[in-house]
Amino acid sequence: MIDFTLSDRDQKILDRVREQALVVREYARYFDENEHEFPPDELAEAKDHPSVIGDLMQRGEGDSGIGTLGMLISMGETWGDYSVRIRRPVGAGLGNAAVSASGTPEQKKQWAGLTLAMAITEPGCGSDPSQVQTTAVLDEATNEWIINGEKIFVTAGCRADGVVLWATLDKSAGRAGIKSFVIEKDTPGFVVAHKEKKLGIRSDDTAALVFTDCRVPRSNLIGGKEEIPKAGSGGFKGAMKTFNMTRPGVAAFGLGMAEAALDFTRETLEEAGVELSYGAGAAAQAAVVEKFQRLEASFEATRLTILRAAWLSDQGQPNNMEASVCKAKGGSAVREITQGCIEILGPMGVSREHLLEKWFRDVRITDIYEGTGEIQRMIIARTLFDYTRADLS
Ligand SMILES: Cc1cc2nc3c(=O)[nH]c(=O)nc-3n(C[C@H](O)[C@H](O)[C@H](O)COP(=O)(O)OP(=O)(O)OC[C@H]3O[C@@H](n4cnc5c(N)ncnc54)[C@H](O)[C@@H]3O)c2cc1C
Repeated sequence: MIDFTLSDRDQKILDRVREQALVVREYARYFDENEHEFPPDELAEAKDHPSVIGDLMQRGEGDSGIGTLGMLISMGETWGDYSVRIRRPVGAGLGNAAVSASGTPEQKKQWAGLTLAMAITEPGCGSDPSQVQTTAVLDEATNEWIINGEKIFVTAGCRADGVVLWATLDKSAGRAGIKSFVIEKDTPGFVVAHKEKKLGIRSDDTAALVFTDCRVPRSNLIGGKEEIPKAGSGGFKGAMKTFNMTRPGVAAFGLGMAEAALDFTRETLEEAGVELSYGAGAAAQAAVVEKFQRLEASFEATRLTILRAAWLSDQGQPNNMEASVCKAKGGSAVREITQGCIEILGPMGVSREHLLEKWFRDVRITDIYEGTGEIQRMIIARTLFDYTRADLS
């Protein structure tokens, strides 16, 4: 049976995360308005707020699995801000998830202390990774890969210690020819071209990267398998495994901000004397209350899809489709919720005096990276109805 009741230990962890998020929220507007600056590695208040990581690693009888609790922590953190943290985490990049999912034991050890970004997207390649144009050519004489290409919109691209980069060994092989490589900063030929300027999540460091005759050791190919698998043999699916826990994470980030928007709207309505009664039924409610409660219901439903995907992973069960379900549902729900809150509060919702307009901008990313909503719906359709890629193109 799935049971999401929280143990005392887990509740205490989440309470501490929420306290830290309240501190972080004080910095949220500043880094939204000063996009060129990076938030500090550690806020001055960090000394009064020890990390929760130690408690998180001690799992006992009745405690949630790490994946499930991790989602609730992600929601709690972004309730403060999308990227500002009381202390910047090490080793929590999307590239780290890729090494963890597909790296050899030696590789996992080698890059354990680094924060790694993930670089897939290129000026001409986003949703369809088979179009990756960045090349990796083996130099047998030196046992090195020579990387050439350009990557855009790389999260944490400026500050990460390195990237996991997707490149093709053979363009004619399509998806099967694509491999991922770790490239550390300071490798000659690896340049951070610029920091992107964005609609939302402006405190987040998003970069464009250029690789020119950039040489990395032969052993930097993640998983070590240099041969190009036959089409349909599942080689590419291995690389996609990375997303089975990161997609629920993206949905959780967005939902934390949507929760902040709901909390702000609820408090404002209550201060204005609007009674939020839950027993009366829709017909007996004021329209504004009914609208608000629909947004709350959407929030709860999304939260359950995220927890289910994480719980399956904690149980060691496949969650490929559930990861896409919560990402697709999350992407649309957080837009509906933040926009609905703005509609309820009117001018106050769009005023820069408050954070609601910022949350509305910030949640937009939920439906874009790690596969857009359209791409998640295609994955769900393929899994549920056995459609092939060709059926849906
Ligand atoms: C802030 C930010 C951070 C990012 N971080 C990273 C990162 O760390 N690493 C990284 O590699 N990338 C990152 N990205 C890039 C992101 O993953 C891509 O933007 C995304 O995959 C979509 O690709 P695209 O922008 O090229 O759009 P396109 O692929 O050109 O798609 C355009 C539109 O067409 C739709 N579409 C595409 N194909 C289909 C189809 N077959 N059927 C129906 N509709 C379709 C899409 O849903 C979308 O609405 C980031 C982007 C942003 C904005």
